[in-house]
Amino acid sequence: MLSVEEALEKILGCVSVLPGEGRSVLEALGHVLAEDVVSDIAVPPQDNSAMDGYALRVEDIAGAGPACPRTLRVLGTVAAGESGGYTVGPGEAVRIMTGAPVPSGASGVVPFEDTDETTRTDRSNIGIRTTIAAGDNIRLAGEDISRGSLIMEKGSLIGPAEVGVLASLGRRTVKVIRRPVVAILATGDELLEAGEPLVPGKRYNSNSYSLAALVRYYGGIPRILGIARDSEDSVVAGLRRGLAADMLITSGGVSRGDYDVVKDVLAKQGEIGFWTVRMKPGKPLAFGLIRGADEDGAVRMKPHLGLPGNPVSVMTTFELFGRPAIFKMMGKKDFGLRTVEAVMVDSLKNTDGRRIYARVRLEERGGEYLARLTGLQGSGILTSMSRANGLAIIPEDWAEAKPGDKVAVVIPAWQDVASRETLGGVPLDS
Ligand code: AMP
Ligand code: MG
Repeated sequence: MLSVEEALEKILGCVSVLPGEGRSVLEALGHVLAEDVVSDIAVPPQDNSAMDGYALRVEDIAGAGPACPRTLRVLGTVAAGESGGYTVGPGEAVRIMTGAPVPSGASGVVPFEDTDETTRTDRSNIGIRTTIAAGDNIRLAGEDISRGSLIMEKGSLIGPAEVGVLASLGRRTVKVIRRPVVAILATGDELLEAGEPLVPGKRYNSNSYSLAALVRYYGGIPRILGIARDSEDSVVAGLRRGLAADMLITSGGVSRGDYDVVKDVLAKQGEIGFWTVRMKPGKPLAFGLIRGADEDGAVRMKPHLGLPGNPVSVMTTFELFGRPAIFKMMGKKDFGLRTVEAVMVDSLKNTDGRRIYARVRLEERGGEYLARLTGLQGSGILTSMSRANGLAIIPEDWAEAKPGDKVAVVIPAWQDVASRETLGGVPLDS
């Protein structure tokens, strides 16, 4: 049996970062940059006014005050978007709007409220009632971004602010690591698709959908391949439909049951990696490389993650192994999960030396977290996953977790209460 860490290391060793592609700056959201972004312009491109007021030479208003205004001759008005073309000489000013380029010769801007503009009928002159320092109320060209500077490094993640910065550079597209296409195949003679009548012995396929939701949540592009029956031919045919994807995920068919054909197929079609991990839920797990072909016709080995069939096991093992694989393909570097320490409220036996990931509800109480089991911990109880906001880790060498024991609780992003309440992080496209 492999530890969770050993299994993850083997999987990540077989997965590589995908190539870059050009995307519009908005569509680049959530992607990792595949190029260094160097600015070929200054932002803002020119010195401009931070206020509505008068651009002038600050030495012309030395000693000005409410009782002794300095009168300057007004050359005209320059609004945002205009180039103006004025040159301010001694005793002169230009009426200027916020964002408008500062005319040459001017060294500062006095806001309207420090002038006598509202009381004046003769607009060809203006009385200035204050002094200012050189540079006051002027935003300098390049104060945000100087021309030629490295703005974002290859490998960094694009969030909303980065989308804005790229747009401010006048960029329409940017090179990012492409999102992985993940093909998902459910296996089982007992499975039905929604819409089919429920008949004895059957159940509805949920794994394809929880997996597709997880793949999408973490930035991959899910391709649901449907259901393969418990026969080698059916599984081979199903997998074949997913060979153009960047990764294949199957659910079911990897334990020691009579019809567990996925691992047999894998052993023939590619290279099988391993199939048991010291964790619960989710002991049976297959990983291998399977011969696939890309759009360019080249034959490439595609990673295949064979997850167990039970609905909770599938989600837990995806979180521990599928998510990091997707992150690596997307060029992300941090695969860790947020972890908090919590105090167990309930007891839970660990009978066979595996690491248990127990579904718990975390509650903050007096500066610490309490972790309460969300119900039956069977690996088929999917609603216990839905009620949970964390997975409490009961270590391999504990025979039992007792009330009061301190445990680490990992919080997958989609379980985090705050992000659940806002649906933060859920990409709306696919
Ligand atoms: P298996 O690993 O194939 O033996 O499946 C273990 C359990 O998970 C069985 O009770 C299956 O009915 C259930 N199961 C397998 N695949 C799915 C699926 N796609 N959706 C819901 N339950 C499933
Ligand atoms: Mg099965």
